[in-house]
Amino acid sequence: MHTSDIRSSLWTDTAIDTPITPSLKEERRADAIVIGGGYTGLSAALHLAERGADAVLLEAQTAGFGASGRNNGQVIPTYTRHSPDDVVREFGPEQGERMNAWVAGSADLVFDLIRRHGIDCDAAQNGWLQPAHAISRMAGVQAKHDQWAARGAPVEMVDRDRTAELTGSPIYHGGWLHRSGGHIQPLSFARGMAKAAIDAGAAIHCESPAIELRRDGNGWLVMTPHGSVRTQSVLLATNAYTDQLWPGLSRSIVPVRSFHIATAPLSANVAATILPQGQGFSDTRQALWAFRQDRNRRLITTCMPVTTFGVRGTLRRSTLKRLHEAFPQISGTEFDYIWECKVAMTIDRLPRYHELAPGLCAGLGYSGRGIAIGTAMGKFLAERVSGGADIDPPIPSTPVQGLPLHDLIVPLSRILVLYYRWRDYRA
Ligand SMILES: Cc1cc2nc3c(=O)[nH]c(=O)nc-3n(C[C@H](O)[C@H](O)[C@H](O)COP(=O)(O)OP(=O)(O)OC[C@H]3O[C@@H](n4cnc5c(N)ncnc54)[C@H](O)[C@@H]3O)c2cc1C
Repeated sequence: MHTSDIRSSLWTDTAIDTPITPSLKEERRADAIVIGGGYTGLSAALHLAERGADAVLLEAQTAGFGASGRNNGQVIPTYTRHSPDDVVREFGPEQGERMNAWVAGSADLVFDLIRRHGIDCDAAQNGWLQPAHAISRMAGVQAKHDQWAARGAPVEMVDRDRTAELTGSPIYHGGWLHRSGGHIQPLSFARGMAKAAIDAGAAIHCESPAIELRRDGNGWLVMTPHGSVRTQSVLLATNAYTDQLWPGLSRSIVPVRSFHIATAPLSANVAATILPQGQGFSDTRQALWAFRQDRNRRLITTCMPVTTFGVRGTLRRSTLKRLHEAFPQISGTEFDYIWECKVAMTIDRLPRYHELAPGLCAGLGYSGRGIAIGTAMGKFLAERVSGGADIDPPIPSTPVQGLPLHDLIVPLSRILVLYYRWRDYRA
């Protein structure tokens, strides 16, 4: 079994090759610098280059090293917790509906990019499903469906029998299906976007951490260990891997350590009964149950452990229990891969856009919905930088708010998983 980080994750073993991205070893100028080589940063670099800007992307490790190369791969054009009406209540009709339209279109953006650039990432835009794990959650499911439907999103309710048919699991009470969602091989999508950005003219430098960011006349100077770039515009796209480059930004989100576990390939007979139409799903539990298959019939699920002590043994036991509960047709399977990464949660589970200083902005905090929304954020950041202030932000810019007792929140977030499990159980 492969049990370490990205270097032995399932996605690394099955991804397309990464393009050549030499580390920065010179002093140069650029129209814009993007810091962070996940979906947000790669999408920003690609869209900047497509708009004719001279864009440089700096990534501390490799393209897709962060959550972008290690997630579950479900492309989800909805909020983690909010319904569209919640967003209108929070931001008012004009801003709220702008944000709703932006989120609704985010999955189409991902699949359009994949098609347009011929990215080989096992993409399937065949819907994303959210089944209700308790009858009491059906009202919320219905409300989300109705509100998105009222805005023209391609959604449908699925009753109990059809949910069982689509998931292959007998435990759900019904659910809703978002037809513009789907799934991808996450690392291949990141690497494919990196290649597309390079082809469009962007310079991508991996193993080039930005170690200092400072004012340089009217612009900015970004230093790496062996080079530097001067620019007018800097986009921070570091999400859960945000370090101390910009004061306070890392304390505005909660980086939660999360794991994935992938089974050995299921037998063809069993695999045909699980998610037979190829969708992925994340159910209504707060302590998330998310499942999908890869192209080799491995079943992949996400887990948030309560303790990190002896985590791999615990995860194997708890995942086996979960699999048997959700899919009784699986009798005793081996796990081939366990890998981990960090998800950037915000307190209200809404993403953040910050205009930090003239010519410096950041997008982060997708709370488990960053494939579609992070890619859309990168496009918006690119438009904002190259199109100027007249582009209306889909999310209002807010000041960075450091979370009180941040050092405590991070370990406490694990305990919160226990609370979520209790609530899920009570539901
Ligand atoms: C377990 C798990 C499952 C998930 N499943 C899903 C899912 O199914 N669907 C979905 O939509 N979302 C999912 N997500 C969330 C999604 O993966 C993220 O929201 C998304 O990948 C964020 O992309 P990003 O580009 O903003 O950040 P990242 O991909 O994390 O990239 C940030 C990059 O910044 C780099 N960096 C940091 N500091 C510096 C620096 N100083 N200089 C240079 N580079 C720097 C890091 O090395 C990193 O590569 C999941 C997340 C986790 C953890």
